[in-house]
Amino acid sequence: MQNQPSPDHQHADLIIKAGWIAPVAPETGALADHALVVRGDTIVDLLPTPLADQKWRADEVVELGNHLLIPGLVNAHTHAAMNLFRGLADDLPLMTWLEQHIWPAEGQWMSEAFVRDGTRLAAAEMIRSGTTCFADMYFFPETTARVAMEAGLRAVLFSPILDFPTPMGAGPDDYLRLATEAADNWRHEPRVTIGFGPHAPYTVSDGPLEKVLTLAEELDAPVMMHVHETAGEIHQAVEASGERPLTRLKQLGLLNPR
Ligand SMILES: [Zn+2]
Repeated sequence: MQNQPSPDHQHADLIIKAGWIAPVAPETGALADHALVVRGDTIVDLLPTPLADQKWRADEVVELGNHLLIPGLVNAHTHAAMNLFRGLADDLPLMTWLEQHIWPAEGQWMSEAFVRDGTRLAAAEMIRSGTTCFADMYFFPETTARVAMEAGLRAVLFSPILDFPTPMGAGPDDYLRLATEAADNWRHEPRVTIGFGPHAPYTVSDGPLEKVLTLAEELDAPVMMHVHETAGEIHQAVEASGERPLTRLKQLGLLNPR
């Protein structure tokens, strides 16, 4: 329902009225009968609905009635494009699933087109469920970045680092070069951050990990890695080197706020 325009009203693009609003800030908990006022891409006001009616008018007013309006959800770990593999060899132990099913499937199907299509599907699912930001670790992160921009999502994308070749790269130095170039290409886009994604302690050796540490510091880029996912990963590391994976990462200097 549109407010009646008056000289006293300020103009906004969108007003969302809800029975409750739980804002990120101020940390007051849920506010009853409030309205959120949006101009362009910015929230410009948050106030009780009767006051919003006095102060603001907008091109679009959404009345959510007896709903709780919350901030966008953040998915802190995705391989978004992999939803094209959804259900493939499900319910298997991690290493069996990876080595006998997923890595061969990726070897056969992986391409920029796969990542583009899979991430578009994932973006639609994320938006439908209220997710507005995701931290993704997968091949061709610049393709994922373009899809995130197109979908209006925020993304932190961790460019993969592995000891072995994949359809994306020939080996560690190639992956490090690709990650560095991607970070450079997206440095000025506020909705996309590129970081380094060394896959796991058992797929990346010390040399490349030391280079990740150096480059991440130079570029002020974040690092994401799978660590201690299974008991088997820890047992194998202890048998091979006498150290648990996290101890090894600590000695390499990789356990830091970044
Ligand atoms: Zn993962």
